[in-house]
Amino acid sequence: MQSANKNGLLAVLPPAIYQRLAPGLKRVRLDAGDILYDAGDAVDYAWFVTSGIVSLLSITEEGDTVEAAMIGREGVIGFPGIARRNGTVFRAQVQVAGEALRIKAKTLRAMIKHGCEFYELLLDYTHALNEQIAQVVVCNQFHAKEQRLARWLLLANDRTRYDAFTLTHETVAQILGMSRSGVSSAAGALQTKGLIRYARGRITILDRKGLESACCECYRIISQTISSYLPSEPMSETDRVNI
Ligand SMILES: [Zn+2]
Repeated sequence: MQSANKNGLLAVLPPAIYQRLAPGLKRVRLDAGDILYDAGDAVDYAWFVTSGIVSLLSITEEGDTVEAAMIGREGVIGFPGIARRNGTVFRAQVQVAGEALRIKAKTLRAMIKHGCEFYELLLDYTHALNEQIAQVVVCNQFHAKEQRLARWLLLANDRTRYDAFTLTHETVAQILGMSRSGVSSAAGALQTKGLIRYARGRITILDRKGLESACCECYRIISQTISSYLPSEPMSETDRVNI
């Protein structure tokens, strides 16, 4: 079994439900910069992320963006496709390359009707996603730029176990809703403290514990919302996917 196969939601599904779902899952690559769907699109698929990171970005009419939520191997992208009103205000964009198990939204919708436990798990996940979005709003409004960057890096580190990310200033600016100079000052502040190194478009976490200390409460709160809906740690060794 390969670590790339793992998704936290699929891993905790009852075996009978998972067996019905598995034939509809197709492994797909997620390349950095890929847009899975854009604001205004109808969403025809759902993606159970198994590695990498996808952002749900909110967008202004002028094209400015800010990340409302980050989804990694603990979650799924594509709820609009299973809702009765299929449409979205978010752009779902890959920030860190990886893989996902993709399924047609209509297949997933049919599965939900047959599996009450699956429905409840997705409801719990939706609730956790809402809480993440609410906390990110608070963070972006009230917390310092360096804390917002620390929060993103810590959550990204948890989801990928990577200590380094290839991210240009422009990409970070689009995620955090800052100017590029704001990103420079936030990264500079963390770098001066010896917590990260940011050079040639690559951010490396040097001191994870120190980064946690420098971060606001948002990292802790968002982490707790994630662990609340998964009975086991999202990166557990459980893996039923073999497709
Ligand atoms: Zn915060």
